[in-house]
Amino acid sequence: MSPTPPRVTVDTDLCEGFGVCYSLAPELFADGPGGRALVRQDGTDVDEEYLDTVVAQCPRSALSTTRA
Ligand code: SF4
Repeated sequence: MSPTPPRVTVDTDLCEGFGVCYSLAPELFADGPGGRALVRQDGTDVDEEYLDTVVAQCPRSALSTTRA
């Protein structure tokens, strides 16, 4: 049985739209309303180490992953 892919979430109360996430990983994140990041794709088919690296780059710690 394969593990459940991680889910990625953006805390829009913390996000200040610096754009690090959608600059680093435009396949995962986009510039949403008010400059807040939107998740374009969850962790499905994404290298988990890469995902964790991108999440760790958020200067506001607004990104998180959830694993089942
Ligand atoms: S890197 Fe963090 S603060 Fe910047 S847009 Fe992405 S979620 Fe928001």
